[in-house]
Amino acid sequence: TDARESMREIEFYQHGRDENHLRQLSIVADLKRAVDENQFVMHYQPKICMASGTVSSVEALVRWIHPIHGFMPPDEFIGLAEKSGNISMLSNWILQAVISQIALWRAAGVTVKSAVNLSAMDLQDDGLPNRIEGYLAKYGLVSTDLIIEVTESAMMRDADKALTILHRLRDSGFSVSIDDFGTGYSSLAKLRELPIDELKIDRSFIIDIKPDTTEALIVKAIIDLGHSMNMSITTEGIETREEWDLLNELGSNTIQGYYISRPLLADDFTAWWLEHQINGKNLAA
Ligand code: C2E
Ligand code: MG
Ligand code: MG
Ligand code: MG
Repeated sequence: TDARESMREIEFYQHGRDENHLRQLSIVADLKRAVDENQFVMHYQPKICMASGTVSSVEALVRWIHPIHGFMPPDEFIGLAEKSGNISMLSNWILQAVISQIALWRAAGVTVKSAVNLSAMDLQDDGLPNRIEGYLAKYGLVSTDLIIEVTESAMMRDADKALTILHRLRDSGFSVSIDDFGTGYSSLAKLRELPIDELKIDRSFIIDIKPDTTEALIVKAIIDLGHSMNMSITTEGIETREEWDLLNELGSNTIQGYYISRPLLADDFTAWWLEHQINGKNLAA
């Protein structure tokens, strides 16, 4: 029976794998049309300045409302878009969606900047900085209205080219954030030469963090390191009041996480912003 059971397990595994593979193929096949048909929607997650309790910016996070598979989180399709050569098309759609939203907010008196996540392959594209500037100009916005987020590993992939593009963006006035910091392999010596304004400490460091633990010491060391290089520190994944208080004590400049707000549709963010810019001090208290 043992053998039969393991056969069944193998069959099950195979079957699961095939199904997963088919799903991935269909996702790739659908990507281009999805961009043309605007099947993507951006959510925006606020980031809070610890000192004032006010919103410092938002982060734009893409979702796909797939006609058959339904709601799809980015982890399921961004990697596939990269592998299939579709990411540049998708990133252009995202940049235009985010920039036009910032302009809409601006017109409604909601003065907020947005961060946009770029992928490693976007940083290999020489045309990117001009394209972003073109989109901004179209909506009467400027480079300081947008924050560029790239992961530590994206920055390190074909680093020469990526760094040239990041320098070019930063020289034009864009803020650059290094995302998921602490999970990549950038040497600390190299960090000093990187064109970055902000470190975002990865959520994995925050899960279950408590005062006076090794985890807290590590986070404190990252914060001090960033500050010594004139970088601002954001901590992501704050889910409780205790984590908020601890990160405040450790010196994080800004925080982001479900405790403050989940990522929201643009209109829901507008309502949230109106309430919190007024009651911002209460949030920090
Ligand atoms: P990220 O840029 O590090 O984004 C943070 C992720 O953590 C988001 O997941 C966010 O919803 C989630 N998150 C925020 N606060 C909390 C919290 O308190 N607890 C927990 N458990 N999670 C929290 P999401 O939206 O599923 O995005 C996942 C990743 O997909 C992003 O990680 C980013 O790498 C990528 N991504 C998202 N949107 C885009 C995009 O527009 N373009 C590109 N290239 N990548 C994107
Ligand atoms: Mg991010
Ligand atoms: Mg992150
Ligand atoms: Mg991440």
